[in-house]
Amino acid sequence: MSSSLENKNIIITGASRGIGAGIAKYLAQQGACLGISYANSKAAAEELLKNLDGEGHFLAQLDISNEESVDAYFKEANKHFNNKIDGLVNNAGITKDQILLRMKAAEFDDVIATNLRGSFLCSQKVLKPMMKARGGSIVHITSVIGQMGNAGQANYAASKAGTEAFSKSLAKEMASRGVRSNCIAPGYIQTEMTEVLDDNQKENILSSVPMNRMGSTEDIAKAVHFLLSDDSEYITGQSIAVNGGLYM
Ligand code: NAP
Repeated sequence: MSSSLENKNIIITGASRGIGAGIAKYLAQQGACLGISYANSKAAAEELLKNLDGEGHFLAQLDISNEESVDAYFKEANKHFNNKIDGLVNNAGITKDQILLRMKAAEFDDVIATNLRGSFLCSQKVLKPMMKARGGSIVHITSVIGQMGNAGQANYAASKAGTEAFSKSLAKEMASRGVRSNCIAPGYIQTEMTEVLDDNQKENILSSVPMNRMGSTEDIAKAVHFLLSDDSEYITGQSIAVNGGLYM
């Protein structure tokens, strides 16, 4: 049993910024060979690639809401990694916040299409190589919002709760093949996604976090590392909350 990620090929979606970029930096430090991507932030992804520890990483464009883009990305990634994919981190996600009374169907659909359907499309692509190797770990980045609900985020909350249920089903289908599926549910993490909150909103949030601080991308990366490593080999279908005590 080992916590090392040496010789492991791991794909992280949405690694160009925020939590995904934090996960990429941390996993590369642990010896993983990474498949990273960008949807729009090409320059940021190229900069990240330049600064990652280790060699042999793969970078290409990926829009997880678009089936053709997912097909093309995973075809190239599989080729790059010789069909050996040890881990997938379904991290890419979006918000389109609006109170329910005003939420447009398109705002609901877009968030589900990216966060939930995107995780389905990407997970499906790694199952064959993982089944063949009789091993693999899929980690979905969900959210405390999927567990608690939140005013103005019905679409986002539904996408994340749906991903948790999806992860459990995947875990049950794949356990006998050695493939694990788990979620990390972050609380409020300091990234561009939370940068848009005003001071008042931030103060309100912090007053409900027993640890009285926002999380860092490294807080999430460490938990992802655990779920990808052999240290968690008997853990599947679970969700680990990394939220400073915000929701218990
Ligand atoms: P972020 O800073 O807004 O970054 C989002 C990332 O997702 C970017 O790399 C972006 O790529 C990528 N992305 C967006 N749409 C995509 C698409 N259609 N296809 C592929 N990639 C796409 O967000 P974050 O805060 O790091 O959040 C990362 C994950 O953590 C999300 O799933 C989010 O729901 C979850 N989360 C975040 C928090 C938080 O407090 N920040 C809390 C709980 C959960 P480009 O820049 O290239 O477009």
